[in-house]
Amino acid sequence: MLVLPAGHPPVRTRFAPSPNGALHLGHAWAALWAHDFARNHGGTFLLRIEDIDGTRVRADLVAAILDDVRWLGLDWDGDVLFQSARLQAYAAALATLQARDLVYPCFCTRSQIVAAGAMPGHDGLVYPGTCRALPLAQRARRMAFEAHCWRIDMGKAMALVGPLTWHDLAAGTQVARPELFGDVVLVRKDAPASYHLAVTVDDAHQAISHVVRGADLFAATHVQRLLQALLGLPTPDYLHHGLLIGADGRKLAKREAAPALAALRARGEDGAGLIEALRKNRLPSGILLAEPSYTGS
Ligand code: GLU
Repeated sequence: MLVLPAGHPPVRTRFAPSPNGALHLGHAWAALWAHDFARNHGGTFLLRIEDIDGTRVRADLVAAILDDVRWLGLDWDGDVLFQSARLQAYAAALATLQARDLVYPCFCTRSQIVAAGAMPGHDGLVYPGTCRALPLAQRARRMAFEAHCWRIDMGKAMALVGPLTWHDLAAGTQVARPELFGDVVLVRKDAPASYHLAVTVDDAHQAISHVVRGADLFAATHVQRLLQALLGLPTPDYLHHGLLIGADGRKLAKREAAPALAALRARGEDGAGLIEALRKNRLPSGILLAEPSYTGS
């Protein structure tokens, strides 16, 4: 594991699972990385439950996640932070961006976005900007009775802040390229914040010094770096680690057949032993480590 030079500032990391599926081995790997990076530097390791995606969150999974992390023996510091208790902070962040006219309400459905000729971008379709151009009066009228999300005006936001960089301990200094994502959603139609907005606000709130997470979120940092600049929040350093994959090369996604940690726990397996093996890069059979490719860099 990467070691910071002596005299480094205090280290604070977090493990931030979303309770919309049971944790599996890939989560144990991610939690281990964030935990050990903190502990190896005499730092603090925090646990955050990203439970604002109301359509998919299951309360029973939250309890199971806490039990899983305890079972792994990865002790966290302080109280667990639940994003569902942070809605005012996300609303305040949105209000800041609204006051600067950097966001706009979007009424489009997914099929309208497809029909408008949206091109595939870094993370799904790049929004073609239909609602960005709506006359103000029409916008206000529709907001009163139509469901809408809030999107960032990417061009305007980028022009405002100018070039931005962020530092990844493994991949080096990166020039932020949030334009890869287009006008991303910051507040969803069906949830009080998007992943990007909530994570950015909470990493600052928890004074995270090093965001240690999987390489699948490497490119997301481009958007989060922009939001930091717009909201006047500090920029942590980042470390994006490789992902565990199945022998078929596929990610251990929550919906696939990867054994849930809860199932291993229920079978009486030894969580601390599992972590010790992962720490030595001894992976269970059928599981491989995909080194990061840092896509989007
Ligand atoms: N909640 C996200 C997930 O479960 C991770 C957020 C992050 O580490 O930035 O994939």
